[in-house]
Amino acid sequence: MQVETSLPEQATRHTAGGAVLKSVYTATLRGLRNPVAPRLFGLLARPGSSRAALAAGEWLVRRHRRVLALSAHADDLEFFCGGTLRRLHEAGAHVTAVILSDGEKGGNLRNLGDIRLSEEGRAAAVLGYDRLLFGHLPDYGFPQDPRLAPTIERAWDEVRPDLVLAFDPRGLEPGFVNKDHTTLGRVTIKVARRRLAGGARVCFYATRHPNVLVNIDAVEATKERAVLSHRSQLRFLPVGDYPNLTRLYGRIFAAWAPCRYAEPIYRLL
Ligand SMILES: [Zn+2]
Repeated sequence: MQVETSLPEQATRHTAGGAVLKSVYTATLRGLRNPVAPRLFGLLARPGSSRAALAAGEWLVRRHRRVLALSAHADDLEFFCGGTLRRLHEAGAHVTAVILSDGEKGGNLRNLGDIRLSEEGRAAAVLGYDRLLFGHLPDYGFPQDPRLAPTIERAWDEVRPDLVLAFDPRGLEPGFVNKDHTTLGRVTIKVARRRLAGGARVCFYATRHPNVLVNIDAVEATKERAVLSHRSQLRFLPVGDYPNLTRLYGRIFAAWAPCRYAEPIYRLL
């Protein structure tokens, strides 16, 4: 699955809007380095019992064998649930990742879709995904695309998962609401309703309403390497800050739990 990709010079070219975003992201990350910040943000997304949520996370990663992980774009899975997928892999689960669009609107590079799918191949090798499927649906087109549900259904029926992971349809605010993400969550619920007899557990990542926390202390460094595989998307911060951003996400959800880094999951079924 190892796919090498080289990035052309134009990767460093920024639009004026991109430069503004870059300075906003950098200032935000600096502000969040204050150790109090993860605890404040974590308070807003704290499960009823952090210990019970962590116990549910251990059960999640140890008791499932066929995992279907659905994402809208290359890099979604790695950032939001890469640690969980790595832990499932280490516990012996067979992980199929589905990247539903090529992510061709995520920058101004020529052939960006091809580049991003190659980068996903590298990230998949880092995290140990067993299969990588591509939907090739249009980026930023999910809300009006009638092919989304049938594409998910085909993957579901082929993998016959006991655990399905998708975006939380309620979004992870502020700053992360993306119509492709939220539509994927909503359509996953529709597909799940027609497959209740199959008994798959359905869970959402990128949630601010976690009832499950996955302790990713032992795999955080591996997750960071997977996130760094997405070179074309490391546009808004100095590259060296992306591990800090990844750690910050984990620290927010571990802020009130007895671990250093955690990923939030909302278990629906
Ligand atoms: Zn995305």
